[in-house]
Amino acid sequence: MGKGTIHRDEGIVLRTYKLGEADRIIVFLTKGRGKVRAVAKGVRKTRSKFGSRLEPMSHCALQFYEGRDLDLVTQADSIDTFRSVREDLDRIGRGVSMLEVTDQLAQEGEVNPQLYRMLLGALRTLETSGSPLVAPAFYWKVMALEGFRPEVDVCVQCGADDTPLVAFDVESGGLLCRTCRRGTPVSPEAVSMLRLILGGGLNEALTAGEAPEATAVVREVDQLATRSVEHHLERRLRSVDVLDH
Ligand SMILES: [Zn+2]
Repeated sequence: MGKGTIHRDEGIVLRTYKLGEADRIIVFLTKGRGKVRAVAKGVRKTRSKFGSRLEPMSHCALQFYEGRDLDLVTQADSIDTFRSVREDLDRIGRGVSMLEVTDQLAQEGEVNPQLYRMLLGALRTLETSGSPLVAPAFYWKVMALEGFRPEVDVCVQCGADDTPLVAFDVESGGLLCRTCRRGTPVSPEAVSMLRLILGGGLNEALTAGEAPEATAVVREVDQLATRSVEHHLERRLRSVDVLDH
């Protein structure tokens, strides 16, 4: 996109921060250009409708104008505000966590339509599902997209497939058998849940996660997902750091 050109796209607001007296910088994940930072002028000065459309999580049709340093957002039309997510504190928390992980994973200048579709799909799921597994399932799926699908079918160390898998090790990238075990112990229910999430049974897993008796297994899967995604992000930050020096 050359200087002075207008560009249309659609995007999801990942986060916003203040700029000067009246403006805001909006960080979007866009469909066409990946992560984009752009200035929204005057959105804090007046009670502008424009500004209220640019809240985190909002899905908008956008128009950008290429500025000298940063692009300007010149138009934002709401496609979806995910209202029922915003009206529920638990779901807001889950949604914001997904935005944060996406923000950390997405690189500016790197087009990633699959990540965009995944985030949009997860926000839509969050709107219709009260399952506490929406966010952890999103983390697992995103890691798989990034090429870090954990091994959940056989022991990641010895390949055994005829013995129970009893532990999950973040460093090794998957489940381990009794002989090879290290890392975090996992219950058989959590193993089944991970297989469902990563093996095409996402809806079944989300529904199962809503059952009151699933609280413990949901916590297990959630903690593993959080630790794995943090590990993955740290490792990537380190490798970016190495490349920069
Ligand atoms: Zn093994």
